Amino acid sequence: MIVDRADFPLLANHPELHYLDSAATSQKPRAVLDALLDYYRCDNANPHRGAYTLSARATERYHDARARVARFIGVRDMDRVIFTRGTTESLNLVATAWGYANVTAGDEIVITGMEHHANFVPWQQLARSVGAKLRICGLTADGRIDLDQFQALVGPNTNVAAFGHVSNALGTINPIAELSAIARRVGALVVCDGAQAAPHLPLDIDHLDVDFYAFSGHKMLGPMGCGVLVGKREILEQMPPYQTGGDMIEYVADERSTWNVLPHKFEAGTPNVGDAVGLAAACEYLDGIGMAKVREHERTLTASASERLSAIPGVRVYGPPAADRSGVVSFTVDGIHPHDLATILDEGQVCVRAGHHCAQPLMRRLDIPATARASFYIYNTEADVDALIRGVERAREVFG
Ligand code: PLP
Repeated sequence: MIVDRADFPLLANHPELHYLDSAATSQKPRAVLDALLDYYRCDNANPHRGAYTLSARATERYHDARARVARFIGVRDMDRVIFTRGTTESLNLVATAWGYANVTAGDEIVITGMEHHANFVPWQQLARSVGAKLRICGLTADGRIDLDQFQALVGPNTNVAAFGHVSNALGTINPIAELSAIARRVGALVVCDGAQAAPHLPLDIDHLDVDFYAFSGHKMLGPMGCGVLVGKREILEQMPPYQTGGDMIEYVADERSTWNVLPHKFEAGTPNVGDAVGLAAACEYLDGIGMAKVREHERTLTASASERLSAIPGVRVYGPPAADRSGVVSFTVDGIHPHDLATILDEGQVCVRAGHHCAQPLMRRLDIPATARASFYIYNTEADVDALIRGVERAREVFG
């Protein structure tokens, strides 16, 4: 264990629980809950607008939160860090604001067959609206992006390449440097969905060759309702806003308006200061552990769970070897529907997700309706793996 379970009030309140669904959302340490409460107790006001001291304090808390998050993800120019509601909103922002201004009929958008719906549907809908072609890269038998196919799909008409850093359904850690290098050769916009990477891997976005990087705070110990989009400054400055209204304007004339500077241009309306403060506290907490240690802890648990599950007759684990996977173990058991399996696991207080994991195109490619998914984080231990294995064995007894 690399953290004290007592640091996490929910886990302390439910000592019997084996929480193996952190890929869906993580539990929150006391430090994050305290930061949230402290903001609302001491500094809450609408930022940016008030001339009074309390509002200035709220503005400062919001500014400091952005600076802290930027530092955590390796971004020096913190104005490139835009707070959103989460990965879904971040990716919709890019597909809508950049997409409608830049993608036209005949253009091609390349995505992969393992994307979460949040990095699939916005591109699909954009392509349908403007008459562009959506090209979907296939996968290898062990659940990786087929790089030869990706290379073949990216051509002179490609103007967007969008891919996940880490698959939520398989855990595959994708070679994003190679993928973006391929996209760069044709001058395509590179968009990376980092929802499953930011919580689990050391991240240095300034040194990733991507135009946009998106993630959610709630999967990395932060509160629900706050995520991030990091964009290249010159692209953000040139593209139109996503939403319009308060805060994002510079001047509103009767006939037209001009836009505020970054990051405000992309943060219309009252910002979610409290959750940003909570996310900053989450970054502080994770930095206190060290992301290399987080990765190593999860790699150990994932390897153990994969190996022990694979040794059970009738169990199939999906995706590449554990060394190339984040803390996700997606599996099926012959003769037991993943939903039934999850119900039996729940009887043993083991929380896993069962279903298509918002990746129906991937399930079609795997030719299965669903998997059960156990996902690990910093508060999990081998005792959680033991409980998972006991539950799967019990399910096999129940279903004969
Ligand atoms: N992308 C991936 C890979 C995810 O795992 C998720 C959430 O599960 C999302 C996008 C969407 O994140 P959110 O629902 O926080 O917007």
